[in-house]
Amino acid sequence: MKLRLYNSLTHQKDIFTPRQKNKVSLYTCGPTVYNYAHLGNLRTYIFEDVLRRVLIVNGYEVDQVMNITDVGHLTDDGDSGEDKMEKGARREGKTAQEIASFYTQAFLDDALALNIVLPKKMPHAADKKYIEAQINLIKTLEQKGYTYQTSDGVYFDSTKFKDYGKMAQLDIANLQEGARVSKNKEKHHPTDFALWKFSPQDKKRQMEWQSPWGIGFPGWHIECSAMAIKELGKTIDIHCGGIDHLPVHHTNEIAQSEAATGKQFSRFFLHAEHLLINEGRMGKSEGNFLTLQSLKDKKFDPLTYRYFVLGAHYRSKLNFSWEALKNSQQAYDKLISNLAGWETPTMENQDYDERFLAAVNDDLNMPKALAIFWDIVKTNLTSAQKMAQVFAMDKIFGLSLQEKSQQLKTKIGQAQEEIRALLQERETARQMKNFQRADEIRFQIEKRGLLVEDTKEGSLLKIKD
Ligand code: AMP
Ligand code: ZN
Repeated sequence: MKLRLYNSLTHQKDIFTPRQKNKVSLYTCGPTVYNYAHLGNLRTYIFEDVLRRVLIVNGYEVDQVMNITDVGHLTDDGDSGEDKMEKGARREGKTAQEIASFYTQAFLDDALALNIVLPKKMPHAADKKYIEAQINLIKTLEQKGYTYQTSDGVYFDSTKFKDYGKMAQLDIANLQEGARVSKNKEKHHPTDFALWKFSPQDKKRQMEWQSPWGIGFPGWHIECSAMAIKELGKTIDIHCGGIDHLPVHHTNEIAQSEAATGKQFSRFFLHAEHLLINEGRMGKSEGNFLTLQSLKDKKFDPLTYRYFVLGAHYRSKLNFSWEALKNSQQAYDKLISNLAGWETPTMENQDYDERFLAAVNDDLNMPKALAIFWDIVKTNLTSAQKMAQVFAMDKIFGLSLQEKSQQLKTKIGQAQEEIRALLQERETARQMKNFQRADEIRFQIEKRGLLVEDTKEGSLLKIKD
């Protein structure tokens, strides 16, 4: 079955096949490790994880790179402002390196809790060998005549690159400086951007390096180009990020990479829409962000957030609310308790239901895939058959269904004797017409996540759903 993905370069769903027969090169822009990831960031990483799983189910090996930004990302996301890492270090009275390793670990923990399988290749921008790669890329751009120097850095001249802003459909002629990036009088054009920034004369930066142009640090955009080219080659198959990366960060990555190599940088660009809160974008600078810890503090299983995210298409905005998360939790709990009542699957592997595969291969239509999944859960197939299908589908959802339902099953198993005794006592109470006591016991059993059903043949235990 063909895999179709919405490509921001062509503005349509294109049939995806990789350049190499069985292997996909995938570059996903990673976190800036100066603070915890917020739920919006995590939505994007969940989308990328689902994409990776779908590629694998389609028979591809995935060679993925995710960068860790630990230098050069300035507070205004453009060429001005403070380095987010240095700001974070000041905030916490630590070194930039300490901040980077603390929040990198926090990110890895969040990913693990959400079943996001991270790539083996996670290069850090401030590592010596990647600083070198960034300097070399800037040198190439300089040799090819794409750069100029100002008092504060080396800039990319966006007018020298023919198709600048094509993907974002930027109206370059009418673009006013200040609307998109902050004012910088020495820049030749509003869309030019820093490749290398000089350290300030009056302040010592924590992170700075020698370069042919002077002591300083790389601009944020150049790191992704340098790492993608170094780790995956001049042309990659898919490049991903949140939608906010489309007009500036990815636009600049394309310009500098293609100017340097003369080759197409990425064949597909996929962008995840934003997570909103109170109908506004969730963001660190917006000051309205929630972390995974805030969900854990309210006793939500992190995977209920993953379930919530799967309920919306990745190209649709999604509004976060506690109410909506609660609904996801109820659906997720119901699913697990259903599965715990089923027999263990008889077969190891199960072919995917055609409708399910069609949905996921149609630009990752996970809401539709979830609906088909629930249809199967509710069908009359024997539970062992269903179980095999459900676990196969969970290779894409990543909801730990097998593990969680097994845990519940074991829990019921251990409480068997206690529950049998309660059932016996309830039966006696019923015979004595002590219905109040019988209801009390029913309630006690329900609290253990089980339902009592009275039938002609006596009481039956059922998984509560
Ligand atoms: P950052 O750490 O700011 O570089 O962002 C990491 C990733 O999260 C990027 O791919 C962003 O595009 C993405 N992102 C930022 N805010 C949101 C949001 N509210 N919803 C979804 N993705 C977001
Ligand atoms: Zn990037």
